[in-house]
Amino acid sequence: MVLIPATIIGNSLFIIHSFQTSIDFQLQRQALLIAETFDATSFQSVTDVASAQASIQRMIASETEELRSFDILIPEGSKFKVVASSYPGNIGKLQDSSSAIPREYFIAWDADQGTARLAAASDQDVAQNPALKNQRYYNIVFPLHDADGNKIALLNLKMSIKVTDDLTRQTLLGSSGILVLTLLIVIGLLMINTRLFEYAVLINKLKEVDQMKDEFISMASHELRSPITALKGYISMFSDGSFGALSEAGKKSIAIIESSIRRLADLVEDLLDVSRIEQNRLQVSLEEVNIDEVISMTIDEMAVNAQSKKITIAYPTKGKSMPTVHADKDKLRQIMVNLLSNAIKYTPAGSVLITVQPQPDETHLIVKVKDSGIGMSAPEHEKLFTKFYRVKSESTKGIIGTGLGLWITKQLVELMGGKIYVDSIVGTGTEFSFTIPVFVAPVTKKS
Ligand code: ADP
Repeated sequence: MVLIPATIIGNSLFIIHSFQTSIDFQLQRQALLIAETFDATSFQSVTDVASAQASIQRMIASETEELRSFDILIPEGSKFKVVASSYPGNIGKLQDSSSAIPREYFIAWDADQGTARLAAASDQDVAQNPALKNQRYYNIVFPLHDADGNKIALLNLKMSIKVTDDLTRQTLLGSSGILVLTLLIVIGLLMINTRLFEYAVLINKLKEVDQMKDEFISMASHELRSPITALKGYISMFSDGSFGALSEAGKKSIAIIESSIRRLADLVEDLLDVSRIEQNRLQVSLEEVNIDEVISMTIDEMAVNAQSKKITIAYPTKGKSMPTVHADKDKLRQIMVNLLSNAIKYTPAGSVLITVQPQPDETHLIVKVKDSGIGMSAPEHEKLFTKFYRVKSESTKGIIGTGLGLWITKQLVELMGGKIYVDSIVGTGTEFSFTIPVFVAPVTKKS
């Protein structure tokens, strides 16, 4: 995370530094070139001070604005004397080797070779023009020769590198802006990346937890089965008088215990179905099934429930000739039990109508279970087949359930090649319908 921004900064600084060095070198060459040109064309004689001064004025006027000041000096004893200058006040001044620049006069004179050195603007320059403060210069000291090639004087010129310094500063500012922007983008990307990584870890954890939950449900439901079976056995022995006659109050209590155990057993079976379906362990064995038989059987099972709520169950197509279906008989029964028990459960009083008919293309039968109960709103339809979903309203208050029945029903219908639908109006009733493939006899070869 730190390496990427550090590399970008390092690279930018390196580029800027290289740029600055090459520009400085370029300027240095340019400054020396001006001095050489002056040497070759402008200066003829040391004695002609007036013409030297005129040459300087010409040079200052014609050369680039970078050219700031000019001095022409001739040796006098152990010193150099200014004979012409862009600052006329300098003329006649004597320079010895006591300061940095005059030391260069001696070096240039002795070696007969130009020198170029970067320096800040002198106090005299700043005094003449305060805008020059903080400007950098190339201080060029160059030996001048007469027509025969003899050294006759020294030229000291100062060339400002303000223009290029400004340019570099602007480039530096621009590239710093781009650098900051790049860093922000990199940091943003890194943050997104880190978050994505955290999400990936979280998703893995969630998967693990989900798997642990599935395993726990499966294990707990299995373990609950045996004690429930034992409870069921002993309670039925109590109710059929195997342990002696029961008082009326005793019979009532046993009936309550029996119904609670039944609810517990149903819940455990639902949970087992959920874990079987989720782990793809639920097997269906498809065969030719008479759907009329299954529906009639379910109605008989539910009759007591319906009667206790004064609900009539109508099944007008009972016994009518209907194609057989290709289904798992137990699972088909389970689907019918879930839909019919819900129809009774969520209908305070009224009727339930069951119909079966072939679909227009005759590949499937469609079974409809319609009640005149509390109904549901459209947004509730959408979540109905989700695991553990229960409608929470005034009318469902006090009705016991787990929210697993319809989810299991949908899975079972689909496992057998059908589809399930719901149509409901609040306060009017609900119609659940599902399709199931018609049985097609396998073609046998004639011998
Ligand atoms: P449960 O009945 O155990 O709560 P289900 O999965 O069978 O779970 O049903 C989910 C929810 O759908 C129920 O809680 C109920 O609100 C609603 N529901 C199911 N069948 C009907 C129906 N016939 N009429 C009205 N509401 C129903």
